[in-house]
Amino acid sequence: MKYISTRDNTKEYNFEQVFIKGLADDGGLYVPKLLKKFSTEELLKFKNLNYNALSTEIITLFLEDFISKEDLSSLINKSYSTFREKEVVKISSIGEIKLLELFHGPTLAFKDVAMQLIGNLYEYYLSKNDKKINIVVATSGDTGAAAIESIKGKSNLNIFVLHPNNKISSVQRKLMTTVVENNVFNIAIDGNFDDCQNIVKNMFFDLEFSKSINMSGVNSINWARIIIQTVYYFYTYFRLDKKNLSFSVPTGNFGDIFAGYISKKMGLPINKLIVATNENDILHRAISKGDYISKKVKETISPSMDIQLASNFERLIYYINNSDSQITSNIMKKIKLNSYQIDKSSLEIIQKDFLSEACNKEETLSIIKKNYEENNKILDPHTAVGVGVAEKLSVNDCVVLSTAHPCKFPDAINEAINKHEKLPEELEHLLNKDENFEVLKNNTEEVKQFIKSRIK
Ligand SMILES: *Cc1c(COP(=O)(O)O)cnc(C)c1O
Repeated sequence: MKYISTRDNTKEYNFEQVFIKGLADDGGLYVPKLLKKFSTEELLKFKNLNYNALSTEIITLFLEDFISKEDLSSLINKSYSTFREKEVVKISSIGEIKLLELFHGPTLAFKDVAMQLIGNLYEYYLSKNDKKINIVVATSGDTGAAAIESIKGKSNLNIFVLHPNNKISSVQRKLMTTVVENNVFNIAIDGNFDDCQNIVKNMFFDLEFSKSINMSGVNSINWARIIIQTVYYFYTYFRLDKKNLSFSVPTGNFGDIFAGYISKKMGLPINKLIVATNENDILHRAISKGDYISKKVKETISPSMDIQLASNFERLIYYINNSDSQITSNIMKKIKLNSYQIDKSSLEIIQKDFLSEACNKEETLSIIKKNYEENNKILDPHTAVGVGVAEKLSVNDCVVLSTAHPCKFPDAINEAINKHEKLPEELEHLLNKDENFEVLKNNTEEVKQFIKSRIK
């Protein structure tokens, strides 16, 4: 499969470039030149496959020039052997709503589903290439832990994770900062997630710097994450055996829900993809009325969605504009100046596939409380936003992506139901371990210096 950049579709790339670089030199995001579309018959062949086999069938389409199907299959088996659920994900119910539980991996959030495999793909790549790679990633709380867990201890790889200082939960932080392997470096930035993401972008575009350290990225714009995440949309469709499912997806960087959009483009009969946001509602404003003006980031009880600049939205802009990279570039310039309004005809195209709503703090807490009292189920605050939005919109046959284990957000759970949700036994030891991280200013040069000093 060949790939192009959303900002210049005349140059072609292979998966290796897409995977290792993450972001195109022109600033655009990689997308496939042509997306495979399954016929109904082809889809039927996947119906009874288990999660790993289904993953292999779908992911191999995108990686065929990078790794053989056999090797991919064994990497997938190895990656998902770390999950507490044999079938990786689990589908449960609360009343009419289905929950797609994605948090049974080692760091208790959906990011593990993609990241466990990505760590092994790096290892596979480095076993064939004599190189050292430095991964630098910004996290709003969960990506970092998932990335560290998948990279720690692997040879020829270092990982540097930037998180917003004091703006993630203590469990989220400890999952990252108690890791002892010496190829793991945690940096707390005095700023918010968007600041962290900007520093990483600045470093990427400083080509002299990024080339000198063989910098690579695993943030949610990495195409590999998107395709790995499409698998659970397919899997849910086959297990529930219903046409026209809708998916309510707690959204920050527009990554997880974009995987749903790609699944639909690949022929999966999805009805609506529902963008569920917290008070950082730019994506809800955009999809409901075309307003893509970003505001100051608010701190909420669902910190992994405290984002104003949803990086993956660029891919949607590309697709709704008939894969026109010139138009996409122009729109991205407007977004940079914070002056983009989605025009009426584009909005109509978006609304064919997407719905949106937002939940504020009080609503989210009351969803957690209500589900605990009525269904004896504790929802994490991100999942609660997804459930609240699904209820507000009352769509039929709705699946909510349950993106994290509630124990990752003890303060929010305590505030909602006055109870402490315990960590799974195998993670309890975290709470008393020493933490190790460096606090740095919101300044790209300082972070560069830090990274250089550590890789010598
Ligand atoms: C990252 C994250 C999200 C948002 O996912 P995106 O791909 O950024 O839209 C939602 N919930 C949890 C728990 C997360 O960690």
